[in-house]
Amino acid sequence: MPASSIDQIVSLCKRRGFIFPGSDIYGGLANTWDYGPLGTELKNRVKRQWWKTFVHKYPDMIGLDSANLMNPKVWEASGHVTSFSDPLVDCRNCHQRFRGDKLLEEKLGIEAVAVLKIEQVQPMLIAEDIACPNCEKIQWTEAKKFNLMFKTHQGVVEEEGTLVYLRPETAQGIFVNFKNILDTFRPHLPFGIAQIGKAFRNEITPGNFTFRTREFEQMEIEYFVEPGTEAKHFDIWQKEVWDWYTGLGISKTHLRIREHSKDELSHYSSKTIDIEYQFPWGWGELFGLANRGDFDLSQHEKFSGQDLKYTDTEDPNKKFLPHVIEPSFGCDRSILTFLLEAYTEEKVKDDTRIVMKFDPRLAPIDLAILPLSKKENLIVKAKELHTKIIHETDLVCDFDLTGSIGKRYRRQDEIGTPKCVTIDFGTLGEDDKQGKKDTVTIRDRDTLEQIRVPITKLIEHF
Ligand code: ATP
Repeated sequence: MPASSIDQIVSLCKRRGFIFPGSDIYGGLANTWDYGPLGTELKNRVKRQWWKTFVHKYPDMIGLDSANLMNPKVWEASGHVTSFSDPLVDCRNCHQRFRGDKLLEEKLGIEAVAVLKIEQVQPMLIAEDIACPNCEKIQWTEAKKFNLMFKTHQGVVEEEGTLVYLRPETAQGIFVNFKNILDTFRPHLPFGIAQIGKAFRNEITPGNFTFRTREFEQMEIEYFVEPGTEAKHFDIWQKEVWDWYTGLGISKTHLRIREHSKDELSHYSSKTIDIEYQFPWGWGELFGLANRGDFDLSQHEKFSGQDLKYTDTEDPNKKFLPHVIEPSFGCDRSILTFLLEAYTEEKVKDDTRIVMKFDPRLAPIDLAILPLSKKENLIVKAKELHTKIIHETDLVCDFDLTGSIGKRYRRQDEIGTPKCVTIDFGTLGEDDKQGKKDTVTIRDRDTLEQIRVPITKLIEHF
């Protein structure tokens, strides 16, 4: 059973060190979040799983890590300077700002709102009796376009020529390196370029914890295919991504596919689907898959003056711009989904235990070594085993001796550690009832089953 409210997750994340409010000791900075020690492990593991699945296991995929600051012409070519904006409305009464389209979407649905022109947003808000979520008055200003790109200046002088943007997506870093990849790797179609990196959007209404923030990470692929073969590759990618999320523990019943209507499609796309997750506040986009055609490469050819055509390997006279299928994952939204999905409350006797049932490949810690009590000889033996594991394996291994063994099991359940290993007097050869000498107990997070194994065979259980 996943979390039913976002507050359960926000509170667990702070309590256990997954995610803290940003700039906390200064009273925070609205909608910024810092990944704590366990959140960082979780994030690294999500990224590692993604990289392993989509880069290392794909013979035709190449990885990239491009710069965040790019020549501003990139964003003119991509259409972001002119089109990457949301309709902003102000409440005349309380002066709060909102995305007019999102306010309308709640009542009218995405498809109906997608067809509205900017000048129709304010009259529609009034006609539909949509009040300000803050002060409940209906006193909207006319909607105006608000560009979401963060601007900054490169160098010591702040003048027009030094203007640069923080990238609002990682995709363009891939397109501008397309020629470099062709020249150095000479890949054959179809092939993909993948990257993970930060993106920045000056969202008008961020919120719902890490669902919508102004600084976030994306995991994106641009998959280049022969024109005419897009439909086939689109379907393959849709299935691959669905399988990735469900394979890592997201229940199929909490996911759905939503195709964008014609009016909703972005300027560059001829077909887009979103994979949506059932968040505690309703369905929301987790992932997007778009057929971008040759929009980006042809725009960059035009704006850069460079030839970005691919030469057919069979026929060197055949040169063309490949078409692109773009699977675009939100890294932080994926993490939020894995957190929500893992959250479980279970009745154990008269108690309720909270357990994060992460897939073991995502759990921040693989195992915890727990001496049964604070007796010196138990601690020495447990530390010896802990040191051996962290030096001789790749496992992330915790060591905990604070509080009763029951409390320590609960703590490990709450952070999702799949197995706890207990060192007791049996391990030391001092209590036959607890177990044989040089054996330990492994406790399973989900089933609570305990098995006794020789220390020499412990690693085989991970
Ligand atoms: P939305 O409709 O929610 O604003 P989008 O359609 O603009 O999202 P894309 O441009 O397709 O999003 O970006 C790809 C992915 O990046 C999204 O599916 C989402 O997971 C993630 N993402 C986009 N904006 C944000 C944000 N402000 N905060 C966190 N993740 C985001």
